Amino acid sequence: MIRLVLLLMFVLPLSCPASAASPDLQEAIVLFQEIEATLKPSEHLLLGASTITFAAGTRRVSLKLSPAVQIDSVTVSGSKFPFSFSAGDLSLDLPKTAGQETIPVTVTYRGIFNDPLPLRGGSSEDPTYGVHGAITTQGTFLDDSAGWYPLPPSLPLKRSVRVSAPTGTEAITAGRRVTRSTKDAVTSSFWEEQRPVGGLTLCAGQYLIEERREAGVALYSYFYPENASLSSRYLDAAAGYLRIYSDLFGPYPFEKFAVVENFFPTGYGFPSFTLLGSTIIRLPFIIDTSFPHEIVHSWWGNAVEVDQSEGNWAEGLTTYLADYLLKERRSTAEGREYRLQLLSDFATLVTPDADFPLTAFISRVDPASRAVGYGKSAMLFHMIRGEIGDRAFFAALRDIYRERLYRSAAWSDFTRAFSRSSGRDLSPFMKQWLTRPGGPRVVLSDVTHRRDGAGWTVSGSVVQTAPFYELLLPLRLETGGASIRKILPVSRVLTEFSFLTPAEPRKLLIDPDAELFRLLSAGEIPATVNSIKGSKLLLAVVTGDCRARDVTFRRLLDSLGKGGTTVIREDELDAELLRTHDLLFCGIPKQRALLPQLPADITLRAAGFSLREDVVSAPDGLLFLVLLRPAPAGRVAALFRPLSETAAEQYAAKITHYGKYGSLVFTGGTIRHKGTIP
Ligand SMILES: [Zn+2]
Repeated sequence: MIRLVLLLMFVLPLSCPASAASPDLQEAIVLFQEIEATLKPSEHLLLGASTITFAAGTRRVSLKLSPAVQIDSVTVSGSKFPFSFSAGDLSLDLPKTAGQETIPVTVTYRGIFNDPLPLRGGSSEDPTYGVHGAITTQGTFLDDSAGWYPLPPSLPLKRSVRVSAPTGTEAITAGRRVTRSTKDAVTSSFWEEQRPVGGLTLCAGQYLIEERREAGVALYSYFYPENASLSSRYLDAAAGYLRIYSDLFGPYPFEKFAVVENFFPTGYGFPSFTLLGSTIIRLPFIIDTSFPHEIVHSWWGNAVEVDQSEGNWAEGLTTYLADYLLKERRSTAEGREYRLQLLSDFATLVTPDADFPLTAFISRVDPASRAVGYGKSAMLFHMIRGEIGDRAFFAALRDIYRERLYRSAAWSDFTRAFSRSSGRDLSPFMKQWLTRPGGPRVVLSDVTHRRDGAGWTVSGSVVQTAPFYELLLPLRLETGGASIRKILPVSRVLTEFSFLTPAEPRKLLIDPDAELFRLLSAGEIPATVNSIKGSKLLLAVVTGDCRARDVTFRRLLDSLGKGGTTVIREDELDAELLRTHDLLFCGIPKQRALLPQLPADITLRAAGFSLREDVVSAPDGLLFLVLLRPAPAGRVAALFRPLSETAAEQYAAKITHYGKYGSLVFTGGTIRHKGTIP
């Protein structure tokens, strides 16, 4: 439906829109829609009036509204008109009109919108929290599924919204803000879209507004007074992201960009504005994570909509271009860590019965569907970029954006664009990643090395488990000298390889930089705080070096959900306990061998520890590490090392919030470092 109207829009002169009408067309053509909404927050009430102008010749019309709404009147071309409204459907049989006269239909209505709000501080895998329509004194949120305005059968060519509310209640919706004023105890604003995209969401609240212009785009922040001091940071960041992404994909597609505060904890990217919950806006990392994610949705998901028939590509692409790419731009190491995180999330969260192919992804409903639809999908874009190179990758994105702007795109459009820009048929490559659940499983087998003249030969094979994938598998041989990288084409069960090296070989690794999507084996999944939280058999061990009081160490265990864990002294440890348990040490054990090998950038010292060049010895420092033990396989050991009782008290309960990390350093009252140990 949407595509039909928009296609017509491209071929018909807008100055003579009535000529779009064809009596033979089944679908009613909507030329304009004007909406007037008056909000009465104390009564949860909306008083609405909307005029929808149909093309000449339109006979049968069906408008969708909330079933709970009361229709006060319907007029057609200015005269009262009989209608039937049931189950949210307002049906009209329009009279036959002569000539090219357009048909304005005006509906006046009223409705209560009062969805229950989520409890404070709750978190949910359902990003809507089940709230679609709420008009309250705290704020108003009405999305397009709430039925707050009569939704015509197809997108209008132009649309406007006028909102009136009690003094100081500022409203925002899609489009350009044409006017805004407060008069006679009413605050009102008028919004206009030259090119409507999708349904309308309306938000309102007692906002303070800040605004500026950047490269011809109006930027706004609509924040509650408590967060208004954060406005300039958000507007600065928005301006920066608009520059980065316009350069990468093409011009920003809407009349304005606004960041709007919501009164419940969402992260939404609507056409031309993003809506973030109050608590979310205050989190310091949001400006680098959720915020650019929602901005990238302006291009991918909003301006180019998702054709769901082949699965939702937009979350994977947006995750890749925002959450991931910004990290990669900061450093290669951060990029690698993020990819590894996606692989270990998939390995730990997606059980075979929760798995599905990317073509079946619609939206996330739980951590597993997120690991597939966001994570695996983002890795697919990374692999495409690796296959065809940056130039062809970004050129294809610009092509899709130009060609599918204000329309929808499917996975097959991406396959075509990437094939065209790289001069290669990528269909078989895309098919294996899109249509199968799971991923490739590869292991090294029969690896041997021998002296060979002045150097060494390392040989062996890669064994793949069915179903077989066509892979370009990176292998890295670490030696006494420089390490050697090899790309091994793998397609069958067994692929042999050999390396020649002048320096003594030390270690051979499969895809150590996580360039490919694959199923990690147990030993490859990094140990993290979550490994302790998920441990089935944990033992807490107090060493002579433990600088936390018993009660604080207990509080750490409680916060990790391990309140019932047995706590023993180091001298009570025996071989049987070591064999059967994961371990959490308070302080460095006297038998240092109980701690697995530390990551290269961390060194323990008597007075403290060092992280790369930084020596931490002040009493307010704390180190927390989770390490994979060499044996028994899959078991972990964690080190909780506060440098004073005060540091222990200050940070113990914070550790649980960094579940996906394996190394944490706190100093000066805050987190200084968080990392994943390969
Ligand atoms: Zn998203």
